[in-house]
Amino acid sequence: MKQADDIAHHAALRALPSVGKLLADPTLAPLLAELSPIHATPIVAGAIAATRAAILAGEDAGPDARERALQKLRLLLEPKLRPLINATGVILHTNLGRAPVSAATAAAMADAARAYTPLELDLATGGRGGRMAEIEALLAALTGAEACLVVNNNAAATVLTLAALTTGREVILSRGEAVEIGGGFRIPDVMRESGATLVEVGTTNRTYARDYATAIGPETAALLKVHSSNFRVIGFIHEATITELAALARAHGLPLINDIGSGALRDTVPFGLGHEPTVADSVRDGATVTLFSGDKLLGGPQAGIIVGARAPIAQITRHPLARAVRADGATLAGLAATLRHYLRGEELTAVPVWRMIALREVELRERAAILRLTLGEKRSGATVVPVCSTVGGGSLPEETLPSWALAFDAASLATRGLTPDSAATALRAGDPAIVGRIADDRLLLDPRTIFPEDEPTLLARLGAILG
Ligand SMILES: *Cc1c(COP(=O)(O)O)cnc(C)c1O
Repeated sequence: MKQADDIAHHAALRALPSVGKLLADPTLAPLLAELSPIHATPIVAGAIAATRAAILAGEDAGPDARERALQKLRLLLEPKLRPLINATGVILHTNLGRAPVSAATAAAMADAARAYTPLELDLATGGRGGRMAEIEALLAALTGAEACLVVNNNAAATVLTLAALTTGREVILSRGEAVEIGGGFRIPDVMRESGATLVEVGTTNRTYARDYATAIGPETAALLKVHSSNFRVIGFIHEATITELAALARAHGLPLINDIGSGALRDTVPFGLGHEPTVADSVRDGATVTLFSGDKLLGGPQAGIIVGARAPIAQITRHPLARAVRADGATLAGLAATLRHYLRGEELTAVPVWRMIALREVELRERAAILRLTLGEKRSGATVVPVCSTVGGGSLPEETLPSWALAFDAASLATRGLTPDSAATALRAGDPAIVGRIADDRLLLDPRTIFPEDEPTLLARLGAILG
């Protein structure tokens, strides 16, 4: 057996192409031509070496050297983060990059990235200017907060705030809020890493202001409130309000840190959704600092935003970690452009996340029906079915928005030699990729998250796949 293997290995090793042969391969040549010659040879040689190693390791079924070189060249040359069509109906889809930004926001970010900007220059005096002046003015107008600091994301905002305001001392948190936000970001772990000691009070379902009050001692550095963004506790529950905790914190000269998660700048209730705490509520109710994401319900670029009174924000800004997690100029320019949509009162039309939330069920039903009609009602086998869109992104759990989707069931797909899975795979394979949702053995495409301007492309791709 060993001997037979050796013979097979020898044959496979002898069949390995030379570097020169692969460099001249007609399928690789167009891609290789895009590379500097310094890089072409090592890539091809690397593919041959990897194939040789796989043969010696007994992996006979793997790709051959030419295929490996092709895969590597595609990985190197084809940008991965290309725009795609989100037909899932999940508005803040974590795997799809959360909030898409407005055209004005994207333009502001591109402009700030490709040129010099007065990021830290005061153009009037020629002296050093603050990075936060513009965002600070916008957030003050929109939320009533005095000062702000923008960092990489809300996870960084949490770590930095805890490190700057509480290091080495105790932070009081409700037992029901010692949560995992996602991707292993757990509040108790974050607190330990920030040097703070967690003091849990109350119970999983009921915590009162008096539970915090009894836990306050000489070692207490802060009260922390964390919004349970991605799950919901129902039934016999109670949590202390920000107003109660703010009064308690003030009476003891302690900061109240309020991590509200999604950073809603307007109320979600008029759209048939549950209540999400807004930034203005938190500021008005007396939180010392309020933390939230830029790319959840705010609908802007990825960022973590810390707002509050000038003194605590200055203390956080001075902490050495602040430099490590600060936002770049393109992010600040994009955030400012997004905030201006709110300032002008145009967020329901200009900010994609809010435009999608505000879409009415009748409009969505009509869009789905028109898609079906254009595709060929009978010929395509598509139907229009009621579905539930969600906000996603770890906000508003269990909350849904009624929508209507274009549906392809297994039976109608089978007449074209497709299954819901193979049709979904084919849609993901093209450019732009189209990502749908499979439920009840049907492929669903929910128009709520499809940009209207992408509909012709969607129809063309569907037509090609359905034949
Ligand atoms: C989403 C969330 C975070 C993490 O925010 P990122 O911007 O994803 O880092 C932290 N806290 C709460 C309550 C959240 O909902």
